[in-house]
Amino acid sequence: MTDCIFCKIVAGDIPSERVYEDGEVLAFRDVQPVAPTHVLVIPKKHIADITELGDAGLASKLIVAINEVVKDQGLVADGFRVVNNCGEQGGQTVGHLHFHVLGGRDMQWPPG
Ligand code: AMP
Repeated sequence: MTDCIFCKIVAGDIPSERVYEDGEVLAFRDVQPVAPTHVLVIPKKHIADITELGDAGLASKLIVAINEVVKDQGLVADGFRVVNNCGEQGGQTVGHLHFHVLGGRDMQWPPG
């Protein structure tokens, strides 16, 4: 999608610090991190949000990529959090499906 910032990151038109990539999934550091480690894991294909993720194969690949990221980033021993914000009340600000991988500090529950 031409006006989607994450599609532009996938295309390389907006710079990002990539930490994982395969044929269908990209992970890169969040530009405004809220934890010492804050990575976004996205499908390369434009999918607006998790309610449009009907492809079980792609869903599996996203989970496998999250696993690769948490291992590569050294988050497994101390734990981490995976977040998907969906829609306005969910706090989604970018309309391209993404999973936040957060680690390196204690997390609060319930979230604010
Ligand atoms: P959300 O509020 O769940 O939609 O999260 C969107 C995330 O995208 C926020 O944490 C932003 O900091 C992040 N973000 C926005 N633009 C960029 C960018 N160009 N590179 C990396 N992260 C970005």
